[in-house]
Amino acid sequence: MVRVRFAPSPTGYLHVGGARTALYNWLFARHHGGQFILRIEDTDRTRFVEDAVEDIQEGLRWLGLQWDEGPVFQSERLSIYREHVERLVAEGKAYPCFCSPERLEALREEQRRAGKRPGYDRKCRFLSPEEREKRIQAGEPHTIRLAVPLEGETRVVDALRGEIVFDNRELEDIILLKSDGFPTYHLANVVDDHLMGITHVMRADEWIPSLPYHVLLYQAFGWEPPVFAHLPVILSPDGKGKLSKRHGATSVREFQRMGYLPEALRNYLALLGWSPGDDREILTLEEMIRLFDLDRVRTAPARFDYQKLLWMNSVYIQQMDEEELVRRVRPFLEEAGLSGPDEDVRAMVRLLRDRVKTLREFVEFGRYFFEDPTAYDPDGEKKHFRDPQAVAERLRLLLSRWEGLERFDAESLERTLRALAEELGVKAGALIHPVRLAVTGFRVGPSLFILLEALGRERVLRRIRRAIAYLEEKVAHEL
Ligand code: GLU
Repeated sequence: MVRVRFAPSPTGYLHVGGARTALYNWLFARHHGGQFILRIEDTDRTRFVEDAVEDIQEGLRWLGLQWDEGPVFQSERLSIYREHVERLVAEGKAYPCFCSPERLEALREEQRRAGKRPGYDRKCRFLSPEEREKRIQAGEPHTIRLAVPLEGETRVVDALRGEIVFDNRELEDIILLKSDGFPTYHLANVVDDHLMGITHVMRADEWIPSLPYHVLLYQAFGWEPPVFAHLPVILSPDGKGKLSKRHGATSVREFQRMGYLPEALRNYLALLGWSPGDDREILTLEEMIRLFDLDRVRTAPARFDYQKLLWMNSVYIQQMDEEELVRRVRPFLEEAGLSGPDEDVRAMVRLLRDRVKTLREFVEFGRYFFEDPTAYDPDGEKKHFRDPQAVAERLRLLLSRWEGLERFDAESLERTLRALAEELGVKAGALIHPVRLAVTGFRVGPSLFILLEALGRERVLRRIRRAIAYLEEKVAHEL
C-alpha cells in the first residue's frame, strides 16, 4: 500500500513550491489507491510562525488536497524520538556531545580562518564510556550526535535521478537530539517516516544534502528506507534564481485572494515538473490522477511563469459552470462592499467571463452591475465626451427614444440607436461610445446592447440622465 506524506515545517505560509510537493504526493497516492498523510514538522521552536499551521491546512483544503491522516504534530511525539535516539546511543551509533555553543562557534571561526570546511571536529565522539557517564550524571547539558562512518561511501538511488553517491569523509556527525530534548529535523523525519509506514518520500531537491544522513539513520536503525524522489527546484520567471517574493505572489492564499481558481493553480502546479506525456495543458483532476506517476516527473528546474498561470486561470473561468462561477465571485463582491441579486451577478458573469482573467477582475471591471459609475474613465472622457455640448444633445435625443421603448431589449435598443445615428448623420459609434461611458464608466466592455438589456431600463436611463447633467455642467463651466 502506497503511503506518502506532506511534511511542512510551520516556519512560513504555504507557498507554491510546498503546494506542488503536496500535490504530487497527493496525486501519487490517489493514482496508486494509497494514502496521503499530513505531518507538521514543528520541532524547530525558534522559527515557528504562529498562524502557519492554519494557513497550510487552509491552503491544502482550498486546493482540494484533503489528507487521509493527520495532521500529526511532531512536537507531540518528543518521547518517541528520545527513545529511538537512546537506542542508537546504547548501540554506539550515536553519542552525547558536551561541547558548548561557544566552543562550536569558536571552532567554526577557526575553521573559517584556516579556509577549512566548517564542521564539528568530533571531540566528544571518542570520550571514554566512564567519562560520558560521569558528565551525564553531573547533569551537563549535551546534544546527541550521529556517529557517521569516517570512510567509504553512502549510496542511494533517487527514483528520478538515479544513484547518488556521497563521500562519507564529507559528512558530519550531525546533531540528532538538541540539548533541550527536541529532535532535529533529520531524526524526527526518519523516525516518523518509518513509524508511519511511508513508502515514498517526494520532496524538494533542497533536501538532497540531507539524504546521506537519512540513509545512514535508516541503516543505523536497521530499517528499510522508503523510495526517494527529489523534485526539481522552482525558478523565477527569468530562470535566474529561485522563485521568491521579489518576483510576485508566492503563497497559495495570496493567489486565492488575487482571484485565482484552485483548479487553475492546481493544474498549473501539476505541470511544473511533470507532464502527462503529450502536450495537453488543461487537465481535469481525474485525468491528472489517472496519468500521474514518477516516470514523467522531470528533474530539470521549472520556471514559474505567471503569465501562463494567468492564461490558465482565464481558461478555467471561461469553462466553469455559470452557477458555480457566480458562487465563486460572490466573496469578492462582498469584500468590495458590493451586493446585488443573483440575477445581476449572473449577468455580470455571463457578459464578462470571456474578458477577465481572475475572479477579482470581475469586481474590477463589473462594478457597474451593482452601482452607478462614480467617475468616467479619463481616456474615455477625452475621446467620447470631447464635445460636451454635442454629446449631451445626442444623448438627450437618444434618451427620449429609449424612454418611449415598449421593450427594453438589445434588439430594440440597437435598432433605435442606429436609426438615430443615421438621422443625425453620424456614425453609430458616436452614440455607442458615449453611452457605454455613461452607463459603465469604462471605455471598453462587453457587447453594449446586450449589456444594456441586462442592466435594464431604469438603471440605463438614470445613468444616461446623469451623464447628460454632467456634460451640461461641463459646458456651463467652459462658457
Ligand atoms: N519539514 C521539511 C520541509 O519543511 C520536510 C522535508 C521532507 O519532506 O522530508 O520541507
